[in-house]
Amino acid sequence: MHTYDPSNIFAKILRGEIPCKKIIETERTLAFFDAFPKAAIHALVIPKGSYMHLEDFLTHAGDEEILDFWQVVRAVISQLSLNDNGFRLISNSGKHGGQEVPHLHVHLCGGEPLGPMLNALKEK
Ligand code: AMP
Repeated sequence: MHTYDPSNIFAKILRGEIPCKKIIETERTLAFFDAFPKAAIHALVIPKGSYMHLEDFLTHAGDEEILDFWQVVRAVISQLSLNDNGFRLISNSGKHGGQEVPHLHVHLCGGEPLGPMLNALKEK
């Protein structure tokens, strides 16, 4: 959780070692479709810089990187018409967040009703 691991799958996508279904690319940000979609529309947005999670990004990225990232989020929402019927933005972070790929990403899910916000709440 404390050191960026350059062998993660999104780093490989950024280095062109494995393919992705690209939606939008800028100098600093890449948006592509999730390979194992959990909703009718499931996009991912990642910074090109090596940030492990949202807190790392917001702490260490420059203003232009942060602005570009959110501008790409907005462009994906627009391009995929996600705002027409609404969508969900998720960023899993760390162990409790259930993050699988340790490179910051936000999920943009929509295209169908998504149900309750969390389905993993356990009865206590
Ligand atoms: P998270 O659990 O928030 O770390 O989400 C990681 C996401 O990456 C999951 O939704 C996976 O389906 C997705 N994923 C894993 N491998 C790939 C890949 N090669 N291309 C696109 N998405 C992927």
